[in-house]
Amino acid sequence: MKENFIEKIIKKDIKNNKDIKIKTRFPPEPNGHLHIGHAKSIFINFSIAKKYNGKCNLRFDDTNPRKENKKYITSIKKDIKWLGLKFNNIKYSSKYFNKFYKYAIILIKKGLAYVDNLNKKDIKKYRGTLNKKGENSPYRNRKIMENIFLFKKMKKGKFNEGSCCLRAKISMSSKIIIMRDPVLYRIIKKYKHYKTKYKWCIYPTYDFAHCISDYIEKISHSICTLEFLDNKTLYNWILKNIDVKKKPRQYEFSRLNIENSILSKRKIKLLIKNKIVKNWSDPRLLTISGLRKRGYTPKSIMKFCNNIGVTKKESLIQISNLENHIKKDLDKKVNRAMAVINPIKIIIYNLPDNYKKKIIIPNHPKIKKLGTQNIILRREIYIEKKDFQENYKKKSKKLCLNGTVKLRYSYIIKAKKIKKNKFNKIKAIYCKYYKETLSKKNKKIKKNSIIHWISKKDSINSKFKIYKNLFNIKKLDKQKKIINYVNSNSLIIREGFVQKDIFSKIIKNYIQFERIGYFFLDKKSTKKNVTFNCVVKLKNHK
Ligand code: ATP
Ligand code: MG
Repeated sequence: MKENFIEKIIKKDIKNNKDIKIKTRFPPEPNGHLHIGHAKSIFINFSIAKKYNGKCNLRFDDTNPRKENKKYITSIKKDIKWLGLKFNNIKYSSKYFNKFYKYAIILIKKGLAYVDNLNKKDIKKYRGTLNKKGENSPYRNRKIMENIFLFKKMKKGKFNEGSCCLRAKISMSSKIIIMRDPVLYRIIKKYKHYKTKYKWCIYPTYDFAHCISDYIEKISHSICTLEFLDNKTLYNWILKNIDVKKKPRQYEFSRLNIENSILSKRKIKLLIKNKIVKNWSDPRLLTISGLRKRGYTPKSIMKFCNNIGVTKKESLIQISNLENHIKKDLDKKVNRAMAVINPIKIIIYNLPDNYKKKIIIPNHPKIKKLGTQNIILRREIYIEKKDFQENYKKKSKKLCLNGTVKLRYSYIIKAKKIKKNKFNKIKAIYCKYYKETLSKKNKKIKKNSIIHWISKKDSINSKFKIYKNLFNIKKLDKQKKIINYVNSNSLIIREGFVQKDIFSKIIKNYIQFERIGYFFLDKKSTKKNVTFNCVVKLKNHK
């Protein structure tokens, strides 16, 4: 891992205290699946623990039965395992429910927490704003005994949801709004907790549960994202007032944001609800399951996380950064092949009908040990539509009428005639080939661009799924209605051709189609119904 500001703090802490045991944690709330932002957090917490001989816990922050579900626990564990990481311990905040309760009573006894009967709306109203001080709740000065009595009644289920809550008694005029008597416990009766069932009807808030969980697990460095900066004051206040000895400390880094995409469980849920993506593992999403389906490797994701580093500066990472890592990982492992994803037919008219020329080509341009493959040139071939333009243009990179191109590993051809149907659609392009142009030494070759092709008779139909950005704008600000910026063309399905013997060239479901990109064989593919998903396009392929 690249050295970052958190490591500098840790090094200093180790220097000042030789006995310190470094312990971090990754605390997902099981209310959704993991995305690449979580991978960054996992990577940081995990790498720090590893590097400094410490431990890293996976802790499910399962204190809100309204949104949490067991299925997310299973999927989070699966994704982490797939990323290749093994946590020292798996913990659940719900295991600490008794302890949270005990600490709440301690705060009440110290006169630092009270039961409030204001409703949610009024709590908000009394809280004030950045420019306006808050007002005390009329219930703020309840006696300690009364508060204990009421809180115990809350626990016993004697009150309705929303009728009361437990609040810390700090200051309604604090500059930090979170410190204006934050809610510590609320009543939730309508939802069953996936683990503790209906045992509890009062649940601690994130702020109350998080710092105490960190303390219970002896976390030394509690690393989270910058939006928790203000919460840190409360984090420290709670730990100070429940009189714990060794306090964990919180450090914040900036969250990962990637151009033209969103990383937020709430927003991903919105995309699914609006049928913009199919589900959490849609290959266009930057969820771990989406990236896996798309064909990303764990290694490429971890390298990306390492490469972007850990800072406090807000930044927007280009998607090409992530793409470069998968290209790098696949480059040396994957065979090349020719495929045509958007075909147009070429008839090489000066070749006989039954012409068949076997050409032996390398599977990989640089790695010899990956072997060779045979391709066959025949009279009828396909090339990409975009490699052709009708009107002649001098120095065109495309094949055009009376212009030439070189077929990769084969001859130079010149387009002589275009055959169209009655709707003016091109049916075939008649081309002439030049016999002496097979040899690499031929001088004419240099002047020609090289295009890929596939012989009609040696090909089978294939679908190609090409993924584009989900959003049309780079930066999706919090205020913006994300649905308005959705790219309606983020999935393009092409119907083209691959070589008949493509299955023998695929390595672990991967192949690079030359001049196009890296592709991943769709799991549902059969020999008769082949689909390839584009993992990442090559640089020059637009
Ligand atoms: P989301 O905003 O996607 O709902 P969250 O922060 O609510 O995410 P949690 O399950 O609470 O999700 O997050 C677990 C950990 O992952 C937290 O420590 C959080 O700071 C971190 N995390 C979440 N999103 C990112 C991100 N984009 N970049 C880095 N870390 C992240
Ligand atoms: Mg959260």
